[in-house]
Amino acid sequence: MVDIIISGGVVATMDEQRRVLNPGAVAIDGSEIVAVGESGELRDAYDADRLVDASGQLVIPGLVNTHVHVPDILYRGRGKARGLHDWLFNVKHPFVGAMDAGDHALAAELYCRESLRNGITTFVENAGGLGNGYDDETVEAKLSVYDRAGLRNVYANGFLDSGSDPEFESFAQTQRRKEPDVVHASEPPLETEAALDRTESLIESYHGTADGRQSVWPGPFLAWGVSPDGLAGAYELAERYDVMTTTHTAESPVQERNLATSVEYLESAGYLGERTLLGHCVQVSEADIRRLATTGTRVAHNVATNCSIATGVAPVPAMQAAGVTVGLGTDNIAHNDTANLIADMRIAALLHKVSETDPGLLPAWSVLEMATIHAARAIGRGDELGSLEPGKLADVVCLDLDRPHLTPYSDVASLLVYQATGDEVTTVLCNGAVVVDDGTCSGLDDRPDTATVQERSQELVAAARLDRLRT
Ligand code: FE
Repeated sequence: MVDIIISGGVVATMDEQRRVLNPGAVAIDGSEIVAVGESGELRDAYDADRLVDASGQLVIPGLVNTHVHVPDILYRGRGKARGLHDWLFNVKHPFVGAMDAGDHALAAELYCRESLRNGITTFVENAGGLGNGYDDETVEAKLSVYDRAGLRNVYANGFLDSGSDPEFESFAQTQRRKEPDVVHASEPPLETEAALDRTESLIESYHGTADGRQSVWPGPFLAWGVSPDGLAGAYELAERYDVMTTTHTAESPVQERNLATSVEYLESAGYLGERTLLGHCVQVSEADIRRLATTGTRVAHNVATNCSIATGVAPVPAMQAAGVTVGLGTDNIAHNDTANLIADMRIAALLHKVSETDPGLLPAWSVLEMATIHAARAIGRGDELGSLEPGKLADVVCLDLDRPHLTPYSDVASLLVYQATGDEVTTVLCNGAVVVDDGTCSGLDDRPDTATVQERSQELVAAARLDRLRT
């Protein structure tokens, strides 16, 4: 007897052989997958409390989003068409600075509903705020929403402990001067010990909560914004608590220094290694790629925001060829402008082909791996997530295949990467529980309604005076 059998669909396992079973079935007991196989065989072998009829549907592992900023969802689309730091200092920080804990809960609810309905069951939140993470009330508000939504989240506590160098501070001032009418918000860097203590206390309080669905990592926010001691301390915390750590790295040319690349700097601080996930890695040299490969460092590829902010094209095919594990991330929802890995897979597949004028680059299966099994490995959970195999956690997504734009299809990877939009998701299980049923997120009811979100977003825009942006 098992709890659930999902039966009758086209099952894309993403296992070692990348088997596709048609009709296939997945048997789930508690939070785990106990069997994956042909529908008839599994139905004969197991009785189930609940049978999910997946005929006419595609069944895939829950998608893993390796890099996200949740609050940005409340001002999506606003103040774009500007460079990274112009946007950061003149749009993001003013808006996020105006948010209170209730607003963060609202953003979290909206984010979870959108993510789940696009098949995302795990996400890594780069919880930076204005650089140093969030206060207790906000953390509690956010994490309780994630718990209620029923998905799996990593809360990477952000911090900065190193003051900007004079050249960068002067550059920041020139950026802020472009928009003198908005309410600029910033906070000073923390003392290294205080930042690490805060991170450790969040790990102690929240890591492993929500039936094991919530994780907490150290998240030094930006490579050059954190001291070597802060980076080494973050890595040491990750080792001590058996978690990973993540930071933004080489996102734009402005972040690179003459004396060393970001990756060199991180290496010198002892931060590279198998417990490290680096967001972006756009401006990386061949030598940097070798450093990432030899240390086992993983990369979050945030293709949609790299395109939108026009920071460059990360050398993903070269990183993969060198043996670096790369997962996809949606990054901030303001610039993306959606939390939708299915949409982002298409961007990734197309961008790298045109960028290198090579249609053979990043085939569909390779892109699908970046949202499933490779993304799971990128966050250190490849043994538990990212594929449908016995013994793995039961994070499963069903998509309706009976759609004109999905008809006909030649292969499931091509279908998902090039034809699907994310809107086809019908059912989502996370940790063995049904969290999206017939398109509705059961843990969040139907809240928040769109009118409430729109109204509050506009109030925050007014509070931050973002309606006075000049460009
Ligand atoms: Fe980011």
